[in-house]
Parts: sequence; structure tokens; C-alpha cells
Amino acid sequence: MHNKTIAELAQGLHQKQFSSLELTTHFLQRIQEHNKRLNAFVTITDELALAQAKEADDRLSSGQSNTLTGIPIAQKDIFCTQGVRTSCGSKMLDNFIAPYNATVVERFNQAGAVMLGKLNMDEFAMGSSNETSYYGPVKNPWDVGAVPGGSSGGSAAAVASRIAPGATGTDTGGSIRQPAAFCGITGLKPTYGLVSRWGMIAFASSLDQGGPMARTAEDCALMLQTMAGFDEKDSTSVNRPVADFSATLNDSLQGLRIGLPKEFFGEGLDHDIAKLIHEAVAEYEKLGATVKEVSLPNMNLSGPAYYVVAPAECSSNLARFDGVRYGHRCENPKDLADLYTRSRGEGFGAEVKRRILIGTYVLSAGYYDAYYLKAQKIRRLISDDFKQAFQEVDVIMGPTSPSVAFRFGEKSADPISMYLSDIYTIAVNLAGLPGMSLPVGFSKNLPVGMQIIGDYFSESRLLNVAHEYQQVTGWHDKAPAEF
Ligand code: GLN
Repeated sequence: MHNKTIAELAQGLHQKQFSSLELTTHFLQRIQEHNKRLNAFVTITDELALAQAKEADDRLSSGQSNTLTGIPIAQKDIFCTQGVRTSCGSKMLDNFIAPYNATVVERFNQAGAVMLGKLNMDEFAMGSSNETSYYGPVKNPWDVGAVPGGSSGGSAAAVASRIAPGATGTDTGGSIRQPAAFCGITGLKPTYGLVSRWGMIAFASSLDQGGPMARTAEDCALMLQTMAGFDEKDSTSVNRPVADFSATLNDSLQGLRIGLPKEFFGEGLDHDIAKLIHEAVAEYEKLGATVKEVSLPNMNLSGPAYYVVAPAECSSNLARFDGVRYGHRCENPKDLADLYTRSRGEGFGAEVKRRILIGTYVLSAGYYDAYYLKAQKIRRLISDDFKQAFQEVDVIMGPTSPSVAFRFGEKSADPISMYLSDIYTIAVNLAGLPGMSLPVGFSKNLPVGMQIIGDYFSESRLLNVAHEYQQVTGWHDKAPAEF
């Protein structure tokens, strides 16, 4: 059962080939068997899952079901889950039981999906390797000596190892796409504003966006259908009709205009990866697409701009964790200042502290104009580059990450080299555009992801473009031998 996609499982449930209880029990057993090795789940909600599965079976037999009714999924531990610990990968929230559900969680509940548990992640979603989690790193199912990517590494590893058919992720600078690439699965970061951020613990509010991670584009479409849509509780949620993402999956790609940004194929990109991307693009030409070079001239500024904007917003968002309102509180504080400083000093890990320090610095009087304001201007230049490119092409293709999954410890001592692993993804967040990653081959026995970027609200097109490739290739079907 675990080798089936969400679409196949939904069909099986509706045709009564198996019940949601059987399906859920099967996945819980797989989690039991493999999670110690992978460390993908930080909380397994087995009792809740079995209760939800029973309810889903009732719905399925009464005919009041929806495509995701009875399908087990797992939530990144950044989404608040009522009555279930929501840790965000941090000691700060190790004891935090959320009093309400995030809108995304609520929507899966309404659809009748089953929650298997909460997935490990980099602390407060800051990282590219899952090594910053308070709960220890997640292992890459393709090679347990390699990182799964981050920050949604638990989500990617769970889906790749088939201990969950689908998972949610969040992407502030690449955290859905890069781990999807490292673990050989499909992930979509939606247009900013399409998926509600309410109840999703904030890292950098103007960049954060939740999205689906699954084996196929078809499955991502099913999950996105449940996740997307206006939410009055999120002031940046966009009020516009949601497309039927599955309806256009099989549209022809005849005449699709693909742009390859020359800045994506320069120095620093692994040769094998460049070769595999070109092979995938050739496959698209066979499907009727045309290819041309485009340019995103300000691409090289996206890293510096991101590492000003994201820390600035995080320093403000994380001010709420003060030992009073939420989470970790130090023992025997001398006075209020001691309570704040020790609670925060003990509760946050090194990377989070580094970001808060940078963010506070760039927002301080005197440096605001020099750093923060300048970064915002660069952000505009980057959006304009994409705007220009999308006048000439329908989608942009390129690598998701400059290398395949690296070894544990390889980059953790050098923050800059770690930050560079998102070099192809962060511009998309700065512009608020949708982006996907899908598997297109292997290098050194590890999966390689290709990124597809589209114009605002072009999710249907992106999913269609990814789906058509997956109809004629088999990379998304490959499973790691050990799992
Ligand atoms: N790796 C990037 C960072 O550390 C992006 C993280 C994310 O998208 N949440 O900030």
C-alpha cells in the first residue's frame, strides 16, 4: 500500500479495496519500523490518527467524502495542531501544546484526511540541512549519511521513505523545494498569499508560504486543493477563486515557452546536475515545448537581500518568545531582565540567535537605510527581472540546488556555504512567485531536482508542466532501496 500515490490510495479507499483504518495502521507500523533510523517524525499521533481514520471510514461509506478523506498525511511541526505539541524544531516550544489548529490543518481535517504526526524541521525553519533541529537531524532515506535538506527535511524524508504518502512543508527561501530535490520527491511553493499562514509559526512573514510535498505533481495538486484559498484570519491571504488544480494536469505542452536563465547555469553548479537539467528540458522539447535563454540580471543579489530581509523579519517575529507568553522559561529568574535573557538564551539554538542578531542590527537606527531599505529595493529589482522574463516565456526552468544532498557536518560550521545551497530558490520567495521542484535523475546515487518557476498564481500551469513530464519519465517512482 505504501508504494501507492495519494491519487491511487484515494481510488483504493473509494473502491473499498481497503479501509482508512487499514491504511492508517499500515503507515503507523511503517513509522514505528523506520522512524528511529530517519528521525523524520518528532511526534506520532497514533491515537488521533486511528480515531480520524474510523471517522473517515464512516464518511466514505455514507458517501460524504472528498478526495482526501481517509488519506494519511503528516504536518510539518511549524503548523499549530490543537492539543498536540507544536515545537517548530525548537527547545523554546518543546512544551508548547497549541490551543488551536492552523488553517491548513483545519482544512485537512475538514476534508477528512488523517494526521499521522508532526514532522521534524530546522529550528524555526532556519536552515538547509535539518541540522539545526533541537530534536537532532533527519536522515536522507537515500543515504543516511547525507542531509535531507531543510528546513522541511522531515517532510521530504517521510514522503521519500514512504512512511507518509504526503506532507506539508513551508518555504521561506527554498525549504520545500530544496529538501524535495535532496530526497527525490515533488514539492510546490505556492504564490505568496495562496495558502493561509494563520497558525503557521512565523519566520519571515513576507516570504513564508506553506505548500504540499508528495511523490507526484498529481498528488501535490490534490493536497494544494485542500490547502489553498482565502482566509480572513491571514491579512495577506489573497481573495480570489481557487482553480481546479487537477482539471488541467493533462493539458498539452505544445507551444509551452521555457526560459533557461543564464545566471542559473554558471559557476558553482555541479556538472552532473546541469547535464540532467538539460536532459529534462530536452524531454520537454519532445512534448512540444520551445526553449530560449533568458536573463535574471539581479539574481546574484538575491542571497544578500534575503539574508537581510529574512533575519529582520525573524528578529521581530521571534520577539514574542520571551519566557512569559509561550514556551521555555528559565529556572529561578532573579528579575524580569534575567527571565527574558536566560529564557531566550536557553530556548534558542545558535542559528536562530545568529539570525536574531543580524536582524536586530539591520533594523537598528542608522543601519536601517543602509541595509534593510536597500534590501527591499533589491527585492523590487528581482521581481522586475522575473516580470521581464515572463513576458517572453511561460515558465522558467533550472536547478533547485547547486549540489546533491551533502554530508552531515559538511556545511554546518560555515553559515555562508550553507546559505548558498538556496541560491536558486530564494529569489522566488523575494518575488512572491510559485516554484516547484521535481526529480529528474540521480548523481552520485542521490536524487537531483529541477526547479520550475511560474508567474503569479500559475500553480495550475506548473502542476500541469510537472505532471506531463512525470507521465513520460519514471524518476518520481524510484524508491530508496532501504525503505
Ligand atoms: N535555508 C533558508 C534559510 O535558512 C530557507 C529556509 C526556509 O525556506 N524556511 O533561511
